[in-house]
Amino acid sequence: MNKDIFSSPAAVTSRLPEMPPFEPGSVWLVGAGPGDPGLLSLLAFHALGQADDIVYDALVGASILALASAEAVCHPAGKRGGKPSAKQADITEKLIELARAGRKVLRLKGGDPFVFGRGGEEALALAAAEVPFRLVPGITAAVAGLAYAGIPITDRQVNSAVTFITGHEAGGGPPEGLDWPALASGAPVLILYMALKHLAWIAERLISAGLDPDTAVVLISKATTVDQHIVETHLSAVAAAAEATKLEAPAIVAIGDVVGLRAALDPSATPKARARAVLALSADDDTD
Ligand code: SAH
Repeated sequence: MNKDIFSSPAAVTSRLPEMPPFEPGSVWLVGAGPGDPGLLSLLAFHALGQADDIVYDALVGASILALASAEAVCHPAGKRGGKPSAKQADITEKLIELARAGRKVLRLKGGDPFVFGRGGEEALALAAAEVPFRLVPGITAAVAGLAYAGIPITDRQVNSAVTFITGHEAGGGPPEGLDWPALASGAPVLILYMALKHLAWIAERLISAGLDPDTAVVLISKATTVDQHIVETHLSAVAAAAEATKLEAPAIVAIGDVVGLRAALDPSATPKARARAVLALSADDDTD
């Protein structure tokens, strides 16, 4: 790869004549991905180089903000469970104010803005205020986290569906409103966001609804960052495993047989160990 191309946002933009202009007085609502700057889209990278103001979430790391233009004003708008954080109404208010002042406003959110990210609410507020905006998706933590752990999120031999679930509801309690028996019997892979607090409650719900307590589970903390931490366990042990390993937020939890493919695809394993695991998996298939 020609390193010079990525040396600055302007250098990238010059190679991409189709890049849309970032109009003054508009807001770009952009997903920054789960952490690794390499997972930013080119549109996100372009916006970082162009924005006058960047209103960013706690989940957006310093290595991504470092790609902003030196003149950009960065406004933290962290929303972290349990910690003091900017109110949602104040955030949208600020976006509207900055846009009305003629600024190029980048609203940068972790992962994808529309996966448990309140991006929809913010876009609705911008629409109501007649502020022009562009919506740019990002790679959501579940998709990137599983890939970085060596787990395909779907595999046609294993699961024909994948279900994203929030582990806590708007008020902070566990997700009581979900149809747990339907999830236990009809959703082959479940991926939980924001689930560390209510993990024991969720595992218990799934097991009482009939899901096998031995179902494979993976917990991925700080996925795609240098602090990524992966714990493999099974459903009945998941809450204890999270506690014993002092697993830190943000973390995603994936439940289902695709987790078993990790043995063969683990990026940190040696090629020899992976090849051996592939053989073991196909031997298992033959005996099924
Ligand atoms: N919009 C984000 C999700 C925001 S909700 C996205 O699409 O990824 C916050 C939750 O996202 C966290 O509690 C955690 O479950 C998950 N999450 C975000 N970034 C993560 C990361 N780097 N590693 C693991 N989980 C992450």
